[in-house]
Amino acid sequence: MNEGISTRVIHHGASFAAETGTVMPPIFPTSTFAHGNAGGFDYTRSGNPNFRILDGVLASVEGCAHATVFASGVSAITAVVSQLKQGDLVLCEENLYGCTVRLFEQVFAKFGVKTAWVDFTKPAALEQIQAQKPAMVWLESPTNPLLKVIDLDAICAITQPLEIPVLVDNTFATALVQRPLDLGATLSLTSTTKYINGHSDALGGAVCTNDPEWHQKMVFSQKALGLQPSPFDCWLITRGIKTLPLRLKQQMANAAALADQLAGHAKVNWVRYPHRSDHPQHQVATRQMRAGGAIVTVSFNASQEQTYALCKQLRWFTMAESLGGIESLICHPATMTHAAVSDEVKAKLGIDDGLVRFSVGCEDLADLQADLNQALELLA
Ligand SMILES: *Cc1c(COP(=O)(O)O)cnc(C)c1O
Repeated sequence: MNEGISTRVIHHGASFAAETGTVMPPIFPTSTFAHGNAGGFDYTRSGNPNFRILDGVLASVEGCAHATVFASGVSAITAVVSQLKQGDLVLCEENLYGCTVRLFEQVFAKFGVKTAWVDFTKPAALEQIQAQKPAMVWLESPTNPLLKVIDLDAICAITQPLEIPVLVDNTFATALVQRPLDLGATLSLTSTTKYINGHSDALGGAVCTNDPEWHQKMVFSQKALGLQPSPFDCWLITRGIKTLPLRLKQQMANAAALADQLAGHAKVNWVRYPHRSDHPQHQVATRQMRAGGAIVTVSFNASQEQTYALCKQLRWFTMAESLGGIESLICHPATMTHAAVSDEVKAKLGIDDGLVRFSVGCEDLADLQADLNQALELLA
């Protein structure tokens, strides 16, 4: 496969309708298939042409052997964790996505899957792997919302001889920016709801791997647990991914410029952006990530009320959860995603009242910059 990634995402794949000459794949809204068909399909819970087209393009982008699609990122996480058994320990990065934490603590804990939480930017975490010999290591990089960058290469160098599978939630970076499997991870998980689809109009998830056993486990989970996506959502995500390289290019250029603009403001305590030289893991970030991504996190020297008002004052950044779409969004964790979290835990996570996370979109940079400037006047 010598073609570039933009060519592959645009031209990838079978349409399963060769005789029609269709340029875009059709949607296959069928629950069942006639027995003995050439595609080997039987029932949509265990496979559908639209799943297979999306599996193929995702594996191509990730540069791996297998991808399995699910109904959402959380479905993909469920598929993986359901392969563990009672008594297994998962050594988790302490800043995992909130829904992942909830799933471990409020669902899988009841079935005896144990978790330990560590800061994987600290050398002590590497010793924990050796000391605890967990059944799995669960990472995310960059993390939400503080954009901690974890050295995947260093961790996989320890887990590989111990044959401990490593999962990396690659949603924030995407395979265009970071390739966990090339760095030694066993599983690369993505919420395709975010950058991959990119238009905030569908939910999906995927698990990529080069390990045939893990691939079989994912195919099994998809049908045994009923975690399959809808053919229509797969079709939308297959359409969305065609512009992923183009979108990300513009989003990342906008994000890098906005990070610099914010860093120069008097009411900003700090800015986190992986490819800025003031990022705490800047060296790892430049080695591991081909670019800085399109999320920028900022701590304003402002009260919760002032920060909330600033978010509401923005015209082009809708205050909303989620990320990765073509439209810019802003999230104020203290009043949104982390509103129910105790002050003590927020302090431990590093989430203060002035913290905001920007998911930078594809709008014209000058408009985003002017919008930020007018809203920042509220803090003057
Ligand atoms: C959104 C997200 C998820 C969950 O994905 P859904 O598609 O919303 O279920 C998991 N991990 C990360 C990092 C995410 O951003």
